[in-house]
Amino acid sequence: MTRVLLRAAGVCFVLAIALMATAQPASLTVLSRDGRKPLPVIAVNNQEYVAVDDINTVFGTTAREDRLAGGLTITLRSRSIVLTADQNVVSVGGRLVSLPSPPVRRDGRWHVPLDFLPRALALVLDTRLDLRRAPRLLIVGDLRAPRVVARVDAGTTNVAVTFEVTPNTQAQVTAQPGRLVVQFEADVIDLALPSLPPQTFLLGLAPGDTANSVVLTTGPRYATHRVATTPADAGSGRVTIDLLPATTAETTAPTVTPPAAPPEARLVIPPPAPASGLRTVVIDPGHGGDELGTQGAKGTLEKEITLSVARRLRTLIESRLGAKVFLTRDDDRTLSLDERSAFANNHQADVFLSLHANSAVRPALKGAEVYFLTVERADAEARKRAGDNATTLPALGGGSREIDLILWETAQARYLEQSAALAGFVEQALAGRVEMSPRAIQQASLRVLVGANMPAALVEIGYLSNAEQEAQLATGAYQDQVAQALLDALIKFREFLEH
Ligand SMILES: [Zn+2]
Repeated sequence: MTRVLLRAAGVCFVLAIALMATAQPASLTVLSRDGRKPLPVIAVNNQEYVAVDDINTVFGTTAREDRLAGGLTITLRSRSIVLTADQNVVSVGGRLVSLPSPPVRRDGRWHVPLDFLPRALALVLDTRLDLRRAPRLLIVGDLRAPRVVARVDAGTTNVAVTFEVTPNTQAQVTAQPGRLVVQFEADVIDLALPSLPPQTFLLGLAPGDTANSVVLTTGPRYATHRVATTPADAGSGRVTIDLLPATTAETTAPTVTPPAAPPEARLVIPPPAPASGLRTVVIDPGHGGDELGTQGAKGTLEKEITLSVARRLRTLIESRLGAKVFLTRDDDRTLSLDERSAFANNHQADVFLSLHANSAVRPALKGAEVYFLTVERADAEARKRAGDNATTLPALGGGSREIDLILWETAQARYLEQSAALAGFVEQALAGRVEMSPRAIQQASLRVLVGANMPAALVEIGYLSNAEQEAQLATGAYQDQVAQALLDALIKFREFLEH
């Protein structure tokens, strides 16, 4: 069915232009999983009609006229509709369906009233056709098709693009070279776009490459953006994207890091970046390569789930927090635990999040858990030592500078308060979106956190050993909820660091 619809797009568009020249009513937009295409509408006796030829082009039906009987048969596979001129009852596979006005034969073409589409055509297509008159839409099948109305407000130092979304639907904003892509969690969007005011932040606002997206083509004044989501109000939600100019602050290029630090190098860690805030985030998708992690009964692999969540989180952080994000791995490779925290140290991360999925012998166990490092007595002593370990080292180019020499084993110990706060924000944010385990926040001796020279936490996003959770964890919807919760936690954590 869907393939039939796709084929006809080009032809139909030409027809639409030809008919619009004679000041006819606006076309309907046919929304299906494949996208949108126009279906021309004409006025006959003050009623809206569509031509059967156009229906055939868009839906892949065929029509055969019986001049003698004054009838027309529209067929798709083995199903057919029989029309008789000037009779407002049509037969659909022997079942009689009434129309508000009869089919009309004019200029050698047959026309049917708009209600023919949901009442008769839907029966031969064997799918729902939802006719929405005001927005001029025909929605094919059971699609999540929210109404998205865009507005553009141009200020002197910004341009704000606001999308009113009904019913409230999540959206993700992704920055690509020269454009921002807004993707709604829907099959298609029923989109209304305004014309653009004169300005140089936004050069274009148009439907995206997929039926559920919108593309903002950015202009020469655009440098960065901020996304704000307003909670639903009477079932509607609002997403505002602020397009902003470059600030005077210089941007630094991402540091390139050798793939794995040799063991000796990992004994000495550079001092933390001087400024506070949250500018760099390292996300560690647990396991990878030969190391599969835990595995669900249906074969879901921890290493794949963690990577997928990490990528979703990266997109969210980049678009909503404006921080740099690095993944310890962005593919299926094996990394040691120490290599993961070394990666975060080398990138001078302000926060390190390690992502995992859990497993338990007891299949009933489920829910997300958050961990930060345990302080053992030995750790506490090492932590004290770490504090008064400043050493003067010769610097490159002569002179000397003070540097903290920190043993690998004690790096995380210096950040325990901050890590505890981070874990707390993560636990709160997750609890708002996904099921939590009875032990939602825990301290443990986790090797991957030991050498991290910044606030760090490990998140077990759910139990793959629980059948219900295995199914959940594999879905984009659940992964997005986790990513969104982690973003919310990072926003809270940034506030915490700044105050
Ligand atoms: Zn794991």
